[in-house]
Amino acid sequence: MNNLYTPWRLNYLQGTQAKIDGCFFCVYAAQHQDVENLIVYRGETCFIILNRYPYNNGHALIVPYTHISDLPDLPANTLNEMMQLSQKLIRAFQALYRPHGYNVGMNLGEAAGAGVPGHLHLHVLPRWLGDASFMGTVGETRVLPEELHQTQARLAQALAGT
Ligand SMILES: [Zn+2]
Repeated sequence: MNNLYTPWRLNYLQGTQAKIDGCFFCVYAAQHQDVENLIVYRGETCFIILNRYPYNNGHALIVPYTHISDLPDLPANTLNEMMQLSQKLIRAFQALYRPHGYNVGMNLGEAAGAGVPGHLHLHVLPRWLGDASFMGTVGETRVLPEELHQTQARLAQALAGT
């Protein structure tokens, strides 16, 4: 897939973004450089981070602080907060972007398409009618009208106020 508008990839291509050893969810959770790392909210047991390579504007991940891969091992309070944060996120998306729908879900394990198989996470992907009908499925290209750090700033502000 190609992105039409991906200024953030310049850093990646130029190698200015530090290469991370190990699990980047754990590294980002510990770093407290939330703006740079695209973290938009920190809860008690989970944090919310924007996907650096989004399928759509606002593609966010709700991630437990604990490095855990199996859903049955996730403690009940973490599971609760994960779902509560998905509600909070959807409320913020409604206020900011008015999406027409959402995909909310997990890819568990490499066979299921998990990008970070060792550290489970819940995807919340805002959808608009027609967003995948032409460019995504036919052109293998994503159209992203908003730059990632702009989304980070707007969403972090909205989540702090909800
Ligand atoms: Zn981890």
